Amino acid sequence: MPTHEEKVARIAGELKEYKSTEPVSLKKKSVSHQVPKPQNKKYSDRKIDISDLNEIISINPEEKICIAEPGVTFIELVSAALKHNLVPMTVPEHKTITIGGAVAGCSIESMSYKYGGFHDSCIEYEVITAKGDVIICSPEKDNLLFQMLHGTFGTLGIISRLKFKLIPAEKFVKMTYEKYSNLEDYKNAIWKHFENKDVDFIDGIIHSPTEYVLSVGNFVSSAPYTSSYDWTKIYFVSTKNRKEDYLKTVDYFFRYDKGLTSAHPKSFIGRLLLGKFMSSTRTLQVAEKFHQIIPDNKIPITIDLFIPFSRITKFMEWYQEDFNHFPLWCVPYRKMRDYEWISSSFLNSTKDELFLDIAIYGMKKKDGKNYYRILEEQLIKLGALKTLISNNFYSEEEFWTFWNKENYEEIKKRTDPDNIFRGLYEKTCKASMGLGR
Ligand SMILES: Cc1cc2nc3c(=O)[nH]c(=O)nc-3n(C[C@H](O)[C@H](O)[C@H](O)COP(=O)(O)OP(=O)(O)OC[C@H]3O[C@@H](n4cnc5c(N)ncnc54)[C@H](O)[C@@H]3O)c2cc1C
Repeated sequence: MPTHEEKVARIAGELKEYKSTEPVSLKKKSVSHQVPKPQNKKYSDRKIDISDLNEIISINPEEKICIAEPGVTFIELVSAALKHNLVPMTVPEHKTITIGGAVAGCSIESMSYKYGGFHDSCIEYEVITAKGDVIICSPEKDNLLFQMLHGTFGTLGIISRLKFKLIPAEKFVKMTYEKYSNLEDYKNAIWKHFENKDVDFIDGIIHSPTEYVLSVGNFVSSAPYTSSYDWTKIYFVSTKNRKEDYLKTVDYFFRYDKGLTSAHPKSFIGRLLLGKFMSSTRTLQVAEKFHQIIPDNKIPITIDLFIPFSRITKFMEWYQEDFNHFPLWCVPYRKMRDYEWISSSFLNSTKDELFLDIAIYGMKKKDGKNYYRILEEQLIKLGALKTLISNNFYSEEEFWTFWNKENYEEIKKRTDPDNIFRGLYEKTCKASMGLGR
């Protein structure tokens, strides 16, 4: 087995030798959690193989620090950390999301109301530039590079090693489902927990405009029973029917792994026969393999919208009128700092520390409408963000009113002067839909 240093030297050497300005993309071991885009230019790119960067290098239980390679998946990380009664501070809900992908493409979950995204728990990255240089960056050393690796989709370099914090965990999670019949009561409940930081986990399902569930979780050392949602039962449905529940900690983190609000098959018989074998990973693998023949209009809408808490009522009023698709996943997210990748005009326009991630997962496209663009237009009006994992129709001018062009270009000219990783706008808004290079 090659050492970490040998793996990095191989990748850096390959990039040093690469004299072309044609774009390259990454070959990873684990499937990509981006919304499948059949026309994505990445399929014909030359590949930089990082598939052997997938090991946990160390876990220091005293310091509660882990050092790992970017291809480590969250199920591998959680399983290893739990042996020391520790867990990461943010665990995206799908088993095969990788830690490198979570930093480069953003990540959220039910601890985000306290700790932000996975990036916010990171304290150092090793990065390989397009020219094959290897740089160590942290908040103390090369802060702008460190911060800009978050949310820039690998367009500034390859993260080859991450150092991040862990927190203490218990063996089980006790769930309590708080039910509300209107948005204002729901918002008040979220705000109270946000102010008091009194529970370990918060997310929720908005089942309909009159059924709001806040799923509040706490670590516990013992449980009278445990439920699991990896076969016949669907987790998000349970939040509607139950008052409380107990899950093993690992099952809690991956409770949505079979699909968030769009788990298939839906019927009991279908799940009895196929439920064990269907998972988000399997669906994405199939979509990746057959990307050339999947009609774009058959790929359901999957999008995370980041709405400043003070604007959520306005957004939901509009949403009900124009979309009215339920259930929605709702994840409170604490903005941990004025993120360097967000434009200062956006940061100045909202003083909210709390955002709600409203996730529309599995909505069918109909009537030939471009729902992604309709949402973008509303977000522009409202002053709200979205993740770039789906189809993006922003004009370049609109795009840079949200993302920070100045900071981006400052790092880009250092780490990828010939633009072989593509620019952020180019990669997420154009190439992903088959346009440009
Ligand atoms: C169906 C679905 C469900 C999802 N559910 C959740 C969820 O529950 N919680 C959540 O937080 N997020 C969720 N996401 C979003 C997901 O976390 C992000 O899309 C994340 O970026 C995916 O990570 P990945 O490991 O699959 O990386 P990939 O999709 O492979 O990569 C993401 C981007 O990062 C780049 N990249 C990957 N590795 C590196 C590296 N080592 N160095 C530099 N760049 C790199 C890639 O080129 C790509 O542009 C979901 C996405 C989908 C499509």
